[in-house]
Amino acid sequence: MSRIAFIGLGHMGSPMALNLVKAGYSLSVFDLVAEAAARLGDAGARVASSATDAVKGCDVVISMLPASHHVEGLYLGDEGLLQHIEDNALIIECSTIAPQAAINVSKAATEKGFSVLDAPVSGGTAGAAAGTLTFIVGGDSADLEQARPILQNMGQNIFHAGEAGAGQVAKICNNMLLGVLMAGTAEALALGAANGLDPHVLSDIIAKSSGRNWATEVYNPWPDVMPNAPASNQYAGGFGVDLMLKDLGLAAESAVAVKASTPLGELARNLYAIHSAQGKGQLDFSSILTLFRS
Ligand code: NAD
Repeated sequence: MSRIAFIGLGHMGSPMALNLVKAGYSLSVFDLVAEAAARLGDAGARVASSATDAVKGCDVVISMLPASHHVEGLYLGDEGLLQHIEDNALIIECSTIAPQAAINVSKAATEKGFSVLDAPVSGGTAGAAAGTLTFIVGGDSADLEQARPILQNMGQNIFHAGEAGAGQVAKICNNMLLGVLMAGTAEALALGAANGLDPHVLSDIIAKSSGRNWATEVYNPWPDVMPNAPASNQYAGGFGVDLMLKDLGLAAESAVAVKASTPLGELARNLYAIHSAQGKGQLDFSSILTLFRS
């Protein structure tokens, strides 16, 4: 069985790594936040003193970091992890980052003889905890087959989007739509409430009508409509506003690169930017509701 280094143990990485420990893999873990790694240590993982230490003796490296510069900073350059990973290792990079950043890492890794996949995920923190994530993979199909048994412990659906970087392109398209849907759902619920409707009743109606979507089905932005949604926990945990803002920025960059028109994505990006500027960047992205709620 593979020995796995897991780097980045935040809202997503921590439950994903935990599922690998539960599946019996030998894991060494590292996060810049020592407490995050210590929690995995309590579950049976080896807590490494650095990323370089984590990859020692491992044939698989998984990373789950916030953004492009974290990932390029981790792997590339004279001090980067590519200088330390064991020969012939497989790298599974799960963060949501710019397609070009994924291609840069893939190119540098391939030149050194490593196999590498961009494998961003969808499904949120609940999906990470339940092991039901969707993996959206870019890279060589033979490398994906090598990764599949490991990914199956963290996710239910595994898609091969195409070559290196394609997983990120598909993920960015999905998240642009998610940002638009969440903002639209918040706007509709706030409109109903301002006109005297009970948001619980309106949510039930929309969930069974043509406006239904992922937000109304599993991630309602109105507090206490869904007990397990971040909205019912003061918008703590979940998928941060600043991470959504990052993804909408990636969508905008991708649109500029190919002269595509993405007016709704741009509008959503501006709404989340206003929300973040009001000090809400660390809250779950469904807190966009508070922009509309009177
Ligand atoms: P997070 O901020 O909770 O966690 C990121 C972790 O990476 C932090 O614990 C941080 O300390 C650590 N880190 C940063 N740089 C590091 C380094 N050089 N070495 C070691 N650790 C480092 O973020 P998250 O919510 O877990 O999201 C991670 C990625 O997954 C992002 O790209 C995000 O867009 C994507 N994503 C998040 C969700 C979600 O619901 N939260 C869903 C799908 C995809």
